[in-house]
Amino acid sequence: MNQKLLISFPNSISVTIKREDLIHTVVSGNKFRKLKYNLFQAKAENKKTLLTFGGAFSNHIAAVAFAAKENGFQSIGIIRGDELKDKIAANPTLQFAQECGMQFEFVSREAYRLKNEAAFLDELKLKFGDFFLIPEGGTNALAIKGCEEILTEEDRGFDYICCAVGTGGTISGIINSALPHQKVLGFPALKGDFLQDEIRIFVQNENWELITDYHFGGYGKVKEDLIGFINQFYADNQIPLDPIYTGKMVFGVMDLIQKNYFPAHSNILLIHTGGLQGIRGMNVKLKNKQLPTIAINV
Ligand SMILES: *Cc1c(COP(=O)(O)O)cnc(C)c1O
Repeated sequence: MNQKLLISFPNSISVTIKREDLIHTVVSGNKFRKLKYNLFQAKAENKKTLLTFGGAFSNHIAAVAFAAKENGFQSIGIIRGDELKDKIAANPTLQFAQECGMQFEFVSREAYRLKNEAAFLDELKLKFGDFFLIPEGGTNALAIKGCEEILTEEDRGFDYICCAVGTGGTISGIINSALPHQKVLGFPALKGDFLQDEIRIFVQNENWELITDYHFGGYGKVKEDLIGFINQFYADNQIPLDPIYTGKMVFGVMDLIQKNYFPAHSNILLIHTGGLQGIRGMNVKLKNKQLPTIAINV
C-alpha cells in the first residue's frame, strides 16, 4: 500500500511511503519478501529444519522463527554473542523467537565470523542434522527474487526510490525491477565500503547510488536526534519507523530534501521495510543508558 505524506515539502517535492511494514503482522516488510522463495525451496527439497544466523535484536531471526512455525519447519538460530545465553528473558527478539520454537546456539563473536566456512557448517550438520541454510540477513538469489516483487505497476511514476540497506539484498531486488528513468537510492544502516560490491553481484542496472552519510555511527547505533526524529515523524504522520533501518533512511531523505539534493517536483517513493519488532529491544537499551525512548507501542 502506498501512502502519500500530507506534510508539505519545499520545491513542490512529493513523498510517498510504501507500507511494506503492513504486509504481515509479524514477519513484516522485507524479511517476508526475502523468505518467500526460500521457504518454497526448502519445501521442494523436503527439508524439515531451517538454520540461520543473526545478532541479538535481529529482525531476520524473528522472521525465520515465526515463518518456520507457520510453515511446519523446525528452526535453529546461530546467535552472535555467547554472553546472551543467560539474557534471553531480557531480550524481546530472542524471547519471541524462542516462543516460536526456535532453538538457539550462542557463539562467540570470533566463532561467528567463521559462519560461512565449510568447516563450521559441517560442524553444525554433525550437531543438528540436515537443514536448509538461510544466510545472515536472509540474502541470497531467492531472497532477491522475492524483493523484485516490492515495486509494482503503481510505482512507475516515481523519480526516486529510497530504501534502507543492510546486506544489500533488498535494494538489489528493487534495482532489478526499477525502470530506467527511476533512480534508486540506498541508505546503509552500517559503516563500510563493501556494500557497493555486494550489490553489484546481483544487479546489472546502473541507475542506483548509496548515500553513506546517515548510519549514525554504525549498525544498531542511535543518537538522540534520531530518536527525536522517529518520535516527531510518528506524531506528524502516524507512521512508525524502526531505529535500525527505516528511521535512518527517512531521516536521510528529509535532510537531503532540506539540502536541495532533489530537483523541484521530484516524486519520491520511500520503501518502509518494516523492522518494527526492533523497537522494543532498542527501548530496553535506551532505558539502560537513561536516554529518551521511542514512543511507539508495538
Ligand atoms: C534487514 C532489514 C533491512 C536491510 O535489508 P537488506 O536486504 O539486508 O539490505 C532494511 N530494513 C529493515 C527493516 C530490515 O529488517
